[in-house]
Amino acid sequence: MRATYSAGDREAIVSEVADRTASLIRSLEANAGGPEGTIGDHVVHQAAFMAALQQSFDALQTRCAPKGATSEQLEKLVRRTVSREEADKGEKCCICLMEYMVDNVVLELVCKHIYHDECILYWFGLSDMCPLCQKSI
Ligand SMILES: [Zn+2]
Ligand SMILES: [Zn+2]
Repeated sequence: MRATYSAGDREAIVSEVADRTASLIRSLEANAGGPEGTIGDHVVHQAAFMAALQQSFDALQTRCAPKGATSEQLEKLVRRTVSREEADKGEKCCICLMEYMVDNVVLELVCKHIYHDECILYWFGLSDMCPLCQKSI
């Protein structure tokens, strides 16, 4: 099961991170400007602030991780078989590293890279980019 996020979800996550960042900045300013504020304290707070900021961005990245290809994207791919000529060239599927055999079923992407049907469909469950050239399908 993989989670997918809509544009609305992403907006909510981005605004959540923006809110957290704003409150972190406010607490940093409050601490730095407080009566007990010293240079030493300020450095400590800033490090804590940077760590918290980093955490927020890590969380954002995880939650907005690249999604798999949609069924509409997959429908547009060209499904065909490997020709004798291609098999003779000894080209390999970069996912399973097996040489193509005549009549292997492959999917050809818009970038013209080809992969075994089952290899690339597995990959497209995780990403919608060509594994070789990173072009979105
Ligand atoms: Zn393969
Ligand atoms: Zn490609």
